[in-house]
Amino acid sequence: MKEQAMKWRWDQGRLDYLRFENIRSIAQCCYNLNGVNLKQSEDILRPSLERATMLTFAPKHYKVWRNYGRVFECAMIATDLGGRLTITDIGKRLAENVEWTVDEYIAAIIPRFAYPYPAFQDYTASLAPVFPFCVIIRYLLASLRAGKSANITVEDVFSILIGNTVQGTESLDSLAQLRPTNIKPQGDEERQVREMLIFLSQTNFLKWSAGTLFLDIEADDTESITQIEALATPILRTRESVPQAEILSSATLQSDTIQVIPTLTTRETSLDIMFTEGKRFRTEHLRIERSPQLRKLYFSQAPKPYKCDMCAGNMQTRYPWTDNILELHHLLPLSSSLTITTKGTSLADVVTLCPNCHRSIHVFYKNWLNSEKVNDFRTPSEAFNIYNTAKQQVQP
Ligand SMILES: [Zn+2]
Ligand SMILES: [Zn+2]
Repeated sequence: MKEQAMKWRWDQGRLDYLRFENIRSIAQCCYNLNGVNLKQSEDILRPSLERATMLTFAPKHYKVWRNYGRVFECAMIATDLGGRLTITDIGKRLAENVEWTVDEYIAAIIPRFAYPYPAFQDYTASLAPVFPFCVIIRYLLASLRAGKSANITVEDVFSILIGNTVQGTESLDSLAQLRPTNIKPQGDEERQVREMLIFLSQTNFLKWSAGTLFLDIEADDTESITQIEALATPILRTRESVPQAEILSSATLQSDTIQVIPTLTTRETSLDIMFTEGKRFRTEHLRIERSPQLRKLYFSQAPKPYKCDMCAGNMQTRYPWTDNILELHHLLPLSSSLTITTKGTSLADVVTLCPNCHRSIHVFYKNWLNSEKVNDFRTPSEAFNIYNTAKQQVQP
């Protein structure tokens, strides 16, 4: 008998709430309010959540938990245990450790999130779990290793992964053999899976663009491939029969194995070492600038001839034997990830610089941050202003 395909679900329409910065703010609120009675008449969550995230939790006449509890549960940060707000281990880690990055957070979610997921009504502890994030990432790794393009659309998720009842524990070799089926999304399933992929694309080794999720590493980067395969290995345990208990239990971080997060170290240059200097947040900036996928995307849309944004030099005229030596520079504050949108990875905050100008702007940043005695820019406009201050001083 053919197994029935497991439903893949996500809390749709909540992308803003599931942006990493907001997940962290929500986790901090849940941490401070841990144990409050969610059934009391006054909605104690609303004021602190709205202040922390600058988002509205509409409609006002519903309790926040009633409409948004599933966001907290899908993000694996909190649940409602016996009518009381209860923070998970993952939520606690986010709130207590501000150095915990988006990559570490998503790496914790990938091997733990399994269907049927207890935030949804069809939860049954006895069914063999399906780990959707492991399934997707392992399939992308399998494609990359098989010499195919490492990307997947929402339609492929249904046709190839859900249609073949992939669970997340299969070998890369068997995943590379999968053939499309005629399984298609029904109703709002398409949107749910799309938003789940966008949520996942916040981690450094994935990018979302034009309806497609890309694995953002080169085929010869064997170190990253090994690290990503290890983190996309399901954590198998006995599932709790009470949904809320299962959410708490699956979000537990106590484990003998310490997760290694791919840092894409093979792409580091002397600029990186000077720039990061132990400041962990700054590596996010470099990950964006080193992204092969973003580079491809940027130059597929940029008008020719490509020029340096600071010195206006045309590198192909200056060095006619080179193909394209311009580098991407990310203008946002150093700790910010790229903005995720439904359309894709944002290119709005990226410019191209020649290698000299690029090196020089990072020196300019470093001097300025040191003189201000801060580790990072405080707002996007501060970052843009400092960039423009440097740009105005460039001699042609
Ligand atoms: Zn330049
Ligand atoms: Zn840069």
